[in-house]
Amino acid sequence: MKKNFIVANWKLNGNIQTISNFLNHLRLKISLYLQNNTVVIAPSTIYLERVYNYIKDMNIFLGAQNVDINTQGAFTGETSILMLKDIGAKYVIVGHSERRFLHNENNELISKKFGLVKSLNLIPILCIGETETQKKKNKTKEILTNQLNVIFQDFGEKAFINSIIAYEPIWSIGTGISADPIYVQSIHKFIKDYINKYNSSDIEKIIVQYGGSVNSKNAKNFLEQPDIDGLLIGSASLMYEEFLKILKISNDILCK
Ligand code: PEP
Repeated sequence: MKKNFIVANWKLNGNIQTISNFLNHLRLKISLYLQNNTVVIAPSTIYLERVYNYIKDMNIFLGAQNVDINTQGAFTGETSILMLKDIGAKYVIVGHSERRFLHNENNELISKKFGLVKSLNLIPILCIGETETQKKKNKTKEILTNQLNVIFQDFGEKAFINSIIAYEPIWSIGTGISADPIYVQSIHKFIKDYINKYNSSDIEKIIVQYGGSVNSKNAKNFLEQPDIDGLLIGSASLMYEEFLKILKISNDILCK
């Protein structure tokens, strides 16, 4: 049965008190909304284990926001995939636009991270998306296929099995300007068809979620689209009331 895949990306936010408060409130209601949702919380690295200890009996999953391409050694300040696996992470976001732009991560580096996550049987959430200028120049599809092709080249036609794709138009992340759900639907269909060309047998299993200024007011419009399989949520995932509202909306849509 289809479930929506909902990820809370907390970015560089939160502290011990706010995280405890959020998760205590989530605990009270979460079981009501898990029938049709797979829920992932991705806190900042320093709080990963703390969050895991809260959520491990709640049927929700731990995600990391980033990983290094090295697994151990003299790499000061980095986090290894072995460590993420060791402390209970199941998902790792790779290629978030904030990492692409603020930390100069290119498609090749992101592909390495993608492969590394999969090699340890964790699940990468690959973020892809176009800038505003690229959209205006009608280059969206070209940019997305470039971002996908690097992964195909490195890992072959079955590269996207057991992975998630997050379509995040960069102009809509953290701006309060969400994309038009009909536009997003068409892009998700394009992404699925593109992957399907290589790997038709597994198309049903490909999860493409949308991210970009999602909140409880617009979530329904996205989730009603047939090829939007979930949401990657930044700001709105920091407030438990708002996050729970989105989970309820998502759950109810699939109950119909
Ligand atoms: C994100 O962090 O990927 C994101 C979509 O953020 P926001 O929901 O704040 O736009």
